Amino acid sequence: MAVRVSVNGYGTIGKRVADAVARQPDMTLVGVAKTRPSFEAAVAIERGYPLYVAGGGDLGAFRAAGLRVAGTLEEMIRASDVVVDCTPEKTGQANSAAYTAAGIRPIFQGGESATVAEASFNAASNFTAARGKKSLRVVSCNTTGIARAAALLREKYGVAEWEATIVRRAADPSESDRGPINGILPNFKLPSHHGPDVKTIFPDLRISTLAVVVPTTLMHIHVNHVRLERPPASVGDVVEAFRSTPRFHLFRRWEQVAGTPQVMEYARDRGGRRPDMMENVLWEEGISLQGNELRFFQAIHQESIVVPENVDAIRAMFELAPDGATSMARTDQHLATAR
Ligand code: NAD
Repeated sequence: MAVRVSVNGYGTIGKRVADAVARQPDMTLVGVAKTRPSFEAAVAIERGYPLYVAGGGDLGAFRAAGLRVAGTLEEMIRASDVVVDCTPEKTGQANSAAYTAAGIRPIFQGGESATVAEASFNAASNFTAARGKKSLRVVSCNTTGIARAAALLREKYGVAEWEATIVRRAADPSESDRGPINGILPNFKLPSHHGPDVKTIFPDLRISTLAVVVPTTLMHIHVNHVRLERPPASVGDVVEAFRSTPRFHLFRRWEQVAGTPQVMEYARDRGGRRPDMMENVLWEEGISLQGNELRFFQAIHQESIVVPENVDAIRAMFELAPDGATSMARTDQHLATAR
């Protein structure tokens, strides 16, 4: 029987997770919960997703807007096996007690602290250890990107040490009230929180990260310097390793992808209901190897990279797949056929 999934918080991440869950044959989307009426609530109804009122939201405001409401958050949760909490940072923690009281399994996002759930999750890294857990936290977009690459490089070559500079987008495209508009802001928390967050997935990984915020909304870029334990035969070997691993997309030189604007233009051109890029994006010419010193750029589409990971987290929790590779293949197949 399909696992019954609900989504609480229908913003950037929540609406994408709802779409992804709706396409998985082993899951049923019970509904989505929002606090306030908006164009997104109207689109949810158009898509046939039952809409519930969350977080002390005003039912009257939805009715006044002519939006059909299926019930309250509590009712949605009662009809579900798992709730994917996609509310703003730190709100998930506040919701945690209500989920426990209702006896429902929650999946939280990277804006919550790691202690909110039994384990932090990344499909390529620790799916098996997450099987059967009662609560999980899907790590943030940047941590997901590093964890995917770390899972691959650790297995194939071993990682002695990793340094990364994270060039962060200032805001998501719809966040018109955020900046900076002109400037580059160093994050003076040195090193940045991303390294410790990656360690919630790989506790023994020697990693240190810095971050700067730049005025763009498209994607983040990671500038990585990794000291490998076993030197690859050639840079071509590393390129092939990235190319043949699920959830990595490598651009070739002739494709003329100069940076994030072309990556997202490619995402729009390849089609689909959402022009998203759920893969880690690398450039063949952006990978260099000197002995065992590997340097590479990767771009991360912050709005969508964690979406397939949430689907896999549900499969891990309910033991719907024996391992991460099987779950990822299933998730990606159903997301791709939707394109
Ligand atoms: P968002 O602000 O786009 O969406 C959050 C939604 O939840 C909004 O629609 C908001 O109205 C609604 N909401 C507010 N309070 C609520 C409540 N009490 N109950 C139910 N809904 C409520 O936020 P987002 O970017 O989707 O982030 C959600 C989570 O995902 C955060 O933990 C964030 O750190 C994490 N995350 C975000 C990104 C990103 O780049 N946007 C990437 C990875 C992970």
